[in-house]
Amino acid sequence: MDWVLLIVSLTLALSVVALLWRVRQLQNHLQHLKVRRSHFQALVDSIPDLTWVKDLDSRFLMVNRQFTKAFGLTSEEILGKTDFDLSESEQAKKYLEDDLLVINTRQAIHREERITGEGGAESWAETVKVPIIGPDGNVEGTAGMARDISERKRAERHINHLAHHDTLTNLPNRTLLERRVKRYLQNHDEDTDHLAVMFIDLDNFKVINDTINHHVGDNILIELANRLRSLVRKDDTVARIGGDEFVVVLPYTDVDEASAIAEKLRKELLLPIHYEAISFEITFSLGIAIYPEDGTDCWGLVQNADLAMYHSKQAGKNRITVFSRQLADRSIRRMTLDSRMKEALLKEEFSLRYQPKVDIESGRLIGFEALLRWFDSSANAFVSPLEFIPAAEQSGFILTLGEWVIDTVTKQLQRWNEKGFVTKVAINVSAIQVHQNTLVQTIKDKLKQFGVSGSQIELELTESIIMENSDRIIDNLQKILDQGVTISIDDFGTGYSNLAYLSRFPVSTLKIDRAFVEKIDQRQDGRRIAQAIVEMARSLGLEVIAEGVETGEELCVMREIGVQHVQGYLFDKPLMAAEIEDRLKESWHYSL
Ligand code: C2E
Ligand code: CA
Ligand code: CA
Repeated sequence: MDWVLLIVSLTLALSVVALLWRVRQLQNHLQHLKVRRSHFQALVDSIPDLTWVKDLDSRFLMVNRQFTKAFGLTSEEILGKTDFDLSESEQAKKYLEDDLLVINTRQAIHREERITGEGGAESWAETVKVPIIGPDGNVEGTAGMARDISERKRAERHINHLAHHDTLTNLPNRTLLERRVKRYLQNHDEDTDHLAVMFIDLDNFKVINDTINHHVGDNILIELANRLRSLVRKDDTVARIGGDEFVVVLPYTDVDEASAIAEKLRKELLLPIHYEAISFEITFSLGIAIYPEDGTDCWGLVQNADLAMYHSKQAGKNRITVFSRQLADRSIRRMTLDSRMKEALLKEEFSLRYQPKVDIESGRLIGFEALLRWFDSSANAFVSPLEFIPAAEQSGFILTLGEWVIDTVTKQLQRWNEKGFVTKVAINVSAIQVHQNTLVQTIKDKLKQFGVSGSQIELELTESIIMENSDRIIDNLQKILDQGVTISIDDFGTGYSNLAYLSRFPVSTLKIDRAFVEKIDQRQDGRRIAQAIVEMARSLGLEVIAEGVETGEELCVMREIGVQHVQGYLFDKPLMAAEIEDRLKESWHYSL
């Protein structure tokens, strides 16, 4: 028995020793672990990002100092908890889903996520979550890091905004416009959904910018941008794509709706804009193109809306035009105009008409205005000078054409002179002709060649030419005046009406533009302008002629306000030279 007791005691003692040894070993290990853990903690605390380790149930096993600071809690308060104890539940749900994804796929994930804090405050975090794989190859939990990138996001957004908006008006720019239209075109139903694109270009904006100042121009653009924005729906886009060019994109809008909206814009934008005690009335020309009929991509639609807008300008501004195929054809014709004009001159398709100018008291013919005509034989139609003159001015062909006009007029005057009909013809002259020194020489040469007196020629210039006031122009005009040629100011009242030049130039006549003559008997404003022109002319010793007189009533008003000469369909349309000889006879006069 003693043996048995001894053996048991020994075994027990040995076990106790072994246990103690094991305990000692464990203590050592724990001590070691503690040391390691504190090293590890020190390391993660030094990381400026939020850092954590979670177990398989998404409970926090470890968090760093940044993490506790961010939540305003101690690590004891966090360890063992889940995201549901720390964050708002929607957010926590997302975190949990991410954890499961990492655990199940054993793959790291990298995200940029938006975090809505208390009171809706928004912040952004960039997070990395990785699986923790144990020595046996099983996933034991997850580890993660999150970095606050709100500042970077704000900067990104700011840059993004700048890249997609116009700095002056804060409206979308070309890039954003294109992106929005693209997105719409991708997500629409081709058969039923329309998209309207409007191209808006302000009328005469350049004049404000050039004559007043850029600051005023900028403020007008800002005000107009705000008005446009406020007049369309939230889903519509108003973009600024150039100086005074705006594009409005209206999803789910057909041509009838677009026209109605355009009309509304026209009315509302017409309201005067007040700036520093000045009030501006800005009008604009507008063109509309509709998807899919008039274009199938952003710039195709914008281009066709632009083309329709151009038509609005041509037709007298402050108008709305809807794109059509015919318009496009016409624009192609316009582009080929220049080469066709050169050919036309060789084929003798140009001719002149002469429109009588009449003395309002005696009814006597006092002279003519020469007006260019072009019969385009390839199209079997007349092309309006309102169409081809601007094109010829743009290309410089007007110089050749202008010489042809001077040549033809002086030749005609010679013919009439020879028959004993001495009269005077006014020639319309474009700005670029006056810029060229050759104009003086051409006039001189032609007068001499055909034995015509300078006093038989008048030049009709627009105000803008004289207003330019460059030394060369003054010099050229003076040389022309020296030939005995007279000068009249055409379209008077429509331009700058800065009259300082009138005292500097021996202008003989002011020509009241047809715009003020039209229905003058029914319009107070036209009458007041015409009256003011007459009074001013009188004080400067100038004559006044009114163009475009079509009715007896208009003639009556002209007489009442003291206009001396008149011209218009009431007396004669522009006539061919052959039709005129009767009227040149001494006995001829118009019955007034
Ligand atoms: P403008 O110099 O203002 O010429 C007057 C325009 O009014 C002419 O148009 C004339 O035919 C038209 N007109 C005359 N009386 C009446 C009327 O009673 N009622 C109406 N509704 N219209 C009337 P047109 O011939 O089509 O010329 C248009 C413009 O083309 C001219 O305007 C002028 O700026 C330019 N132009 C014409 N011939 C020449 C030219 O030889 N050289 C240059 N540089 N320009 C020219
Ligand atoms: Ca004229
Ligand atoms: Ca005119």
